[in-house]
Order: sequence, then C-alpha cells, then structure tokens
Amino acid sequence: MSKKIISAVVMGLFLCFQGQAQKICAHRGFWQCDEAVNSQNSLASLRLAQEHGLWGSEFDVHLTADDIVVVNHDADFYGILIHTSEYEDLLTYRLPNGETIPTLYEYLDQGSLSPCMLVMEIKPQDTVAASLILTQRCIQALRAENLLDPSRVMFISFSYPVCEWIAQHLPEFDNQYLEGDKDPETVHASGINGIDYHYSVFKRHPDWVARAHALGMSVNTWTVDNKADMEYVKGLGVDVITTNKPLVLKEVLGL
Ligand code: MG
Repeated sequence: MSKKIISAVVMGLFLCFQGQAQKICAHRGFWQCDEAVNSQNSLASLRLAQEHGLWGSEFDVHLTADDIVVVNHDADFYGILIHTSEYEDLLTYRLPNGETIPTLYEYLDQGSLSPCMLVMEIKPQDTVAASLILTQRCIQALRAENLLDPSRVMFISFSYPVCEWIAQHLPEFDNQYLEGDKDPETVHASGINGIDYHYSVFKRHPDWVARAHALGMSVNTWTVDNKADMEYVKGLGVDVITTNKPLVLKEVLGL
C-alpha cells in the first residue's frame, strides 16, 4: 500500500474518532424512492428531502432565453433547449409527477421552509459569459428570498470560471468544483474552497481527501449509490456524500 493511501486512511480514522459524521445530500432532490409522485429536481423531491431531515439537497439550474432561471438537470426539457427557449415554451410539458418545470424562485420558496442545505449546481451554459450571467441571476434570487447565507446555501459547478467568480465575490460560501480533473492544491490556488468529485476520482486519488482537508477545503462526492462505495468514501473521511439513495446511506452511517 502506498504512503499516500495509508495517510488518507489514517486521516479517515482520525476524522471518525473526532466524531465528524458525514453529511447526507440527496442528489437532484430525493427522487429515486418508492413514491411515484417524485420527479428529479421537482418541488416534491425537495419537499421529501426536507421531510426526511436530510442535511442537504442538490439541484441544477439553467437560464432561459428570456432570462428566467429554471431548475432542471439537462440542458433541454423534453427536447426543447432551455437556453434558446422562452420560459413559456417550457410550460408546454410537465415533469412526470405533473409539476411544471420549477423556476428558481419557486424552488427557493420551498427551500426556505426547512433548514435543509440547498446545494445549487450552476450548470455551464453555452459560453462563460452566459454561465456568469446565470450565476448572478442565482445570487439575485437568493438575496430576494433571504437565502444568501452560507449556512443555507452552497455552490457546486463543473464550470471552473463560475467557481472562480464565486471565490472572488462570495468567499464565505462553500464553493466546490465538480470536474475531478484537478488536484486539491491547484483548485485551492485559484481561491476555490472545496471539491465535489465523483467517487471514482477518489478511488484513483484516495489521498486527495486528506490533501484537501489539509488546505482547509471541504470535500463532497457524488452519486454514491451502493453500500460498498458508501463504506469506501466514509472511510476516506469526506465531509458530504451525495446520493440517490439517502435512506441506504443513513443505514451505512448508522444515523
Ligand atoms: Mg446536479
């Protein structure tokens, strides 16, 4: 076993003995459950995450052609490209549970009803300029909803320029880079204070968790959906585990 792996395991054990429990974040709301009423990124899925008392709930945002921020995973909604469509066009279709595509304001209205952390994924738009406009629209909405608060909201993004912008303008917020292609030192040197990498990245680089922690960065990992992977990232000592299976994770963490 390499020295790096040993040091990562030692750090994981250290954090466990410190009583630092991992936090559970539902991926795209709590939607992969038995209740047919739930669709990913729907208000109902967020409500369910809140009702289950989860630490956080992740969701994705895009900008329409008429400058409305909507909550949706993909860049399209039933084949309609969000960034070239007006919001009204998106209302032609419904989510599987019958809801219309939520605007960010509607989503934040629901989010404001419980302490569940709102983990906002700012999706890269066609250009960096458009991604930064989306970021600023999100911040306006959070401010208007009295949710521009590091204890209520954190940011994640695959867009490095978005993470850099947040680092510069909102340094007090958790701000995690998603792509998984940069080591913690490189990300930290850009002022970005966290990483949220797919768990397969940490399998390739198990020492990155301890190295990020040594720099004071927060560490999240996503779509950890089976017990073996949950046990693995728990052992590494990540701060947040994002999953489609929050109730399985509760069991694994003994919560
Ligand atoms: Mg997402």
